[in-house]
Amino acid sequence: MNYDLHSHSTASDGVLSPAALVRRAYACGVGVLALTDHDVVDGIAEARREAAVLGLILVPGVEISVTWEGCLIHVLGLGIDPDDAVLQEGLQVLRQRRRQRALEIGRRLERLGIPGAYEGALALAGGDVVSRSHFARYLVAQGFGSDCRKVFEHYLGRGKPAYVPYQWAALQEAVHWIRTAGGQAVVAHPARYRMGARTFSAFLEAFVDAGGCGLEVVSSSHTPRDCRNMARWACRFGLRASLGSDFHGPGEGAAELGDIAPLPLECEPIWVDWDLKRWQPEQWNVRKPGRTCAGI
Ligand code: AMP
Ligand code: MN
Ligand code: MN
Ligand code: MN
Repeated sequence: MNYDLHSHSTASDGVLSPAALVRRAYACGVGVLALTDHDVVDGIAEARREAAVLGLILVPGVEISVTWEGCLIHVLGLGIDPDDAVLQEGLQVLRQRRRQRALEIGRRLERLGIPGAYEGALALAGGDVVSRSHFARYLVAQGFGSDCRKVFEHYLGRGKPAYVPYQWAALQEAVHWIRTAGGQAVVAHPARYRMGARTFSAFLEAFVDAGGCGLEVVSSSHTPRDCRNMARWACRFGLRASLGSDFHGPGEGAAELGDIAPLPLECEPIWVDWDLKRWQPEQWNVRKPGRTCAGI
């Protein structure tokens, strides 16, 4: 089975609809895909329907924005029940904070001589989540930078003029929502936080104490060295290892769906005790289309 356990759709800041994302994953040879939109589970129903048609296993997931000791951390919930009320209420609050933050980002950009960015970002958001990615795409479309990376560097990234610090979920809270919804909590792209060894160790201790169980060892954000390093941290803290492309759309970032290195051999995969039948639809379509990358 080819696993890709981190991806985004138009329900948050991805550019493909949930159905189109699943079709692309299928064409790329992914057998088990997790849809992990930022702070929302609205895309899962559509993704599930499409996965049932194609015979791909869709793991319901989410990527929750967390603030720990002033740092923005992303915690993945894998195998969650998207209908769980506790999870849904928690995510709803985060989306409300996102809207407040977006208003403030818009005000700051206006002061920098860029009007209409709030409305522009909102128009690009396909769902209930407004993200800095939507601001970035608006700014690129308006000619304020050649690509999203550049506008993050100039305006939206941490410490830049339109960066608005915000209090997201507490670590314990996010892990609690995930576990209540029957899922496993996994630290997303851990090398991106650039924590020193001492801080990272304290963070993992807090994460394990809260009930977290996995580390995304292989990610498109990681260098091969980061992967080896994270494999060691996972072993040291008894964490299972996950892997994901963090795909946001064709041409968005480097990674294609499923195009990621395998887990280092010393890792215990997050899926070691998964019963995939749990996410397998009862009715598989007998006429599966051939896997082809044409037209994606
Ligand atoms: P938000 O969750 O609204 O704060 O937005 C964060 C999202 O912006 C991430 O999930 C990425 O998809 C995207 N992002 C963050 N940093 C960068 C960057 N340097 N270049 C391009 N996209 C980025
Ligand atoms: Mn994103
Ligand atoms: Mn992330
Ligand atoms: Mn992500």
